[in-house]
Amino acid sequence: MSPAAANGIAPASIAGAPFAGSRLAAALLVVCAAGALAALFLFDPASSRFFPPCLFHSLTGLHCPGCGTLRAFHQLAHGHVWNAFRLNPLAMLVLPFAAFELAFRKRLRPLPPAVVWGLVAVVIAFGVLRNLPFEPFRSLAPQ
Ligand SMILES: [Zn+2]
Repeated sequence: MSPAAANGIAPASIAGAPFAGSRLAAALLVVCAAGALAALFLFDPASSRFFPPCLFHSLTGLHCPGCGTLRAFHQLAHGHVWNAFRLNPLAMLVLPFAAFELAFRKRLRPLPPAVVWGLVAVVIAFGVLRNLPFEPFRSLAPQ
């Protein structure tokens, strides 16, 4: 029997483990997000070598669904919402919903499969459409 259990006090590692673990995970997430935002604020992905280039774009010359997202977040961090939207409209449309979910949901739950497949279809369609060489789809490519 441990000394803490002998005193009638549960060890902190057992008593508060689930709550403490989620708090620690949340704190780590906030620290990592703050670090990523600081890096995106300080270094422009369009001109800095701090961020790696898109491998898909480097290999194919095509824009993947995520192309322009880092540059968009950099623009957003500097308050240039329209420039951010022009770089990756899908990311800028999804961002408010993702931020709301992360900020106000006490517990993240898995999305229903139909929603997940719908999102996958939207991302794939966005990736295909933004590579078409005529308007209005050409406007979906990073600009
Ligand atoms: Zn890309």
